[in-house]
Amino acid sequence: MIHQFETVIIGSGGAGLYAALEASKNSNTAVLSKLYPIRSHTGAAQGGISAALGNVEEDKPEWHAFDTVKGGDYLVDQKAASILAEEAIQAVYDLENRGLPFNRTPEGRIDQRRFGGHTRNFGEGPVRRACYAADRTGHMILQTLYQQCIKNEVSFFDEFQVVDLILEGTKCSGVVVVELATGKLHIFSAKAVLFATGGFGRMFKITSNAYANSGDGPAVCARRGIPLEDMEFFQFHPTGIKGLGILISEAVRGEGGILRNRDGERFMEEYSPTLLDLAPRDIVARSMLTEVRNGMGIRGDRQIDDYLHLDATHLGKDTLMKKLPDISEFCKTYLGIDPADDPIPVLPTAHYAMGGIPTDEHGRVILDNKGTIVDGLYAAGECACVSVHGANRLGTNSLLDLVVFGRRAGKHIAQYAKGADGVKVDESAADEARQWIEQITDGSEGPHGGHITDEMQTTMMEKVGIYRNEKEMQEAVDEIQDLRNRYRDVRVQDTSSTFNTDLLEIIELGNLLDLSLLTAASALDRKESRGAHSREDYPERDDDNFLKHSLAYLEEDTVRLDYKDVDTSIWEPKPRTY
Ligand SMILES: Cc1cc2nc3c(=O)[nH]c(=O)nc-3n(C[C@H](O)[C@H](O)[C@H](O)COP(=O)(O)OP(=O)(O)OC[C@H]3O[C@@H](n4cnc5c(N)ncnc54)[C@H](O)[C@@H]3O)c2cc1C
Repeated sequence: MIHQFETVIIGSGGAGLYAALEASKNSNTAVLSKLYPIRSHTGAAQGGISAALGNVEEDKPEWHAFDTVKGGDYLVDQKAASILAEEAIQAVYDLENRGLPFNRTPEGRIDQRRFGGHTRNFGEGPVRRACYAADRTGHMILQTLYQQCIKNEVSFFDEFQVVDLILEGTKCSGVVVVELATGKLHIFSAKAVLFATGGFGRMFKITSNAYANSGDGPAVCARRGIPLEDMEFFQFHPTGIKGLGILISEAVRGEGGILRNRDGERFMEEYSPTLLDLAPRDIVARSMLTEVRNGMGIRGDRQIDDYLHLDATHLGKDTLMKKLPDISEFCKTYLGIDPADDPIPVLPTAHYAMGGIPTDEHGRVILDNKGTIVDGLYAAGECACVSVHGANRLGTNSLLDLVVFGRRAGKHIAQYAKGADGVKVDESAADEARQWIEQITDGSEGPHGGHITDEMQTTMMEKVGIYRNEKEMQEAVDEIQDLRNRYRDVRVQDTSSTFNTDLLEIIELGNLLDLSLLTAASALDRKESRGAHSREDYPERDDDNFLKHSLAYLEEDTVRLDYKDVDTSIWEPKPRTY
């Protein structure tokens, strides 16, 4: 079946919904989502959204932009970071006007709290920049935007999973989709297609990400010849619940929580004398691992699963209930402890993809280092790389990225889709996807997808994790290639057509394997340490050779790497100290 829209948006998280709100003002817009919209991962975001409102203490967009660039270890495109910081203020007020219930100061203004790497006056000390709705900020954003989209009569296709992109040369004309309820293939033909499919933390064994975060958008694009940018940079959040990876928001440290080792010492005093526990995440995660390796974890056995304590006991029950109610509940449910009485056992957890589909500042997808645009194809949110996060994202800058660049992409689409010519697509556009699905559901015997998932996640966690080296990353590339070969023979065990989640998980696994390969290959090629990419064999940042974005092309069984300049037009790269 072929559906015709002017604009098709894939994903109903914060980025997709904001883009839909803008695009639908001027074009006939559909949103496709494999999940029911408000189950998108944006709804799990806890701590806040940054904007230099200056409501609680002096702040400026210029300081915010600088922190973003420095936090990203100078791999950030600086004009894009300035747009992010400047448009943040209006973006937050727009959310407020659309009904988002932010926490308030006693005077009734939007309250703000501290988050890692956000400073006043170019690094002098921490500043309160994160606007928040308790520890349910993402949930509130998602609800607010979804209501507005319903009001604007955006067409929603819930539980529709995109499996292929239709490209003719450098022009995009639609997507191929499986409908979960029936197993039927649909074609959505459109003048403009926007990917907003979120992150892919499920490459790793221990992650804060939802099961649905399998990077479908970037993988579908990569298989159609679009490069993925800066894939080697994957953020590990310092505070996941030990063993589970469930996130304990940085807001706990923003409100005064302290990381402690087995002697009860506040070890961040040693690693980051100015920002302490609120140093950027790459630095805190590495410091934690160093403590564990030095035998200062809580057990003290130097094993990689040894952990540390996040101490929030001094914050008091009242603050915890008012400002961090969900976190308190998580601790009770998953650990059987009350953070008002006991410290929380934590370890870094795979959290956020800095890399993704390369775009310009209007969300238009770029094909190469000359900036060639793919007509009609857009990306925004965590699946995209604009690049405002560089080598390491600051906390609360992702929700902001969704809103600022989701909106910019939506506005650009609204103009583009009116002017562009319609494209004719016929049923044959779904042939490749159909053949593939018929093959994996033919009922024959094959390896079990679950085992491959397990091996992939373990390899990525152990060999392309926080600390990396040549030998292990080469092993990871080889192992992932081997898993990709085995994957070709995987067969779906459940051959029914209604709600066949077995089939969809196998398609997702294929996406994760492709992204794992691109990540490991990009990491192997970057022979320096920068932001979240930390190499034991190349411990220094090397601006002479590596102050550049990587572009990784998936070419059948190999990865071809190219590079692209970083925009350093405002601040000259300097060593990072905090
Ligand atoms: C636990 C947690 C807490 C966080 N807290 C914060 C925070 O406090 N502040 C902050 O700034 N950031 C935070 N982040 C990061 C931030 O929430 C995410 O980066 C952001 O929400 C991603 O939004 P998105 O719109 O790009 O995608 P998502 O919200 O992940 O949505 C993806 C959408 O794409 C759809 N989709 C995916 N694949 C397909 C497909 N094949 N076909 C159809 N639809 C598809 C899904 O159904 C979904 O609707 C947090 C992340 C996590 C995991």
